Amino acid sequence: MKIVRIWFRREPLSKVLFFNKLFKLSSPSSFSRFTGSDADATNSKGHYLVDIVRQFFTAMVVLDTWQYFMHRLMHQNKFLYRHIHSLHHRLVVPYAFGALYNHPIEGLLLDTIGGALAFLISGMSLRASIFFFSFATIKTVGDHCGLWLPGNLFHVFFRNNSAYHDVHHRLYGAKYNFSQPFFITWDKILGTYMPYTLEKRAGGGFGVKPTKVDKDD
Ligand SMILES: [Zn+2]
Ligand SMILES: [Zn+2]
Repeated sequence: MKIVRIWFRREPLSKVLFFNKLFKLSSPSSFSRFTGSDADATNSKGHYLVDIVRQFFTAMVVLDTWQYFMHRLMHQNKFLYRHIHSLHHRLVVPYAFGALYNHPIEGLLLDTIGGALAFLISGMSLRASIFFFSFATIKTVGDHCGLWLPGNLFHVFFRNNSAYHDVHHRLYGAKYNFSQPFFITWDKILGTYMPYTLEKRAGGGFGVKPTKVDKDD
């Protein structure tokens, strides 16, 4: 009887300890011990900012690289295109709400796995990742908004922008401009870059026009 009483007395305590440990393990400060970033915040403010910029840039390169090759594969593999990626290309003229309109498997392959790799390889903290993934999501929505607004910082800082991605969504553009969401580097290196011009339309606004003739079309 004594043993049973002790067991009952200890059981709630062990539950508390278990949940306490679980909470600590899932907290940002604890996780960053594995990724090794938040601890850097205690060094100095200058170092911390340099680390954040380095981590953001690394994450951008990793995400861009993963998305370029996966995106291109989705176009070149007929099965993947027909059953998965064609859903996103129903948007011949993109609009902001359609930015993440895609097949769940595409969301998993391109965004979730790509995002996880960017997070792990860059070594950013969970706290920093909140800002990074918010930024990447806003950038993706901006790339699909179909607008060319004066003073849009995405257009100032990124050559991969709403006009660039608009070309990819056009029927003639499905073999070009796979790069997303930040740079155009992989398109340039691997010859899938389609240059374009913005032309004023009679009804107002701009239209994108490719400036390279496709031999296969
Ligand atoms: Zn595509
Ligand atoms: Zn798109």
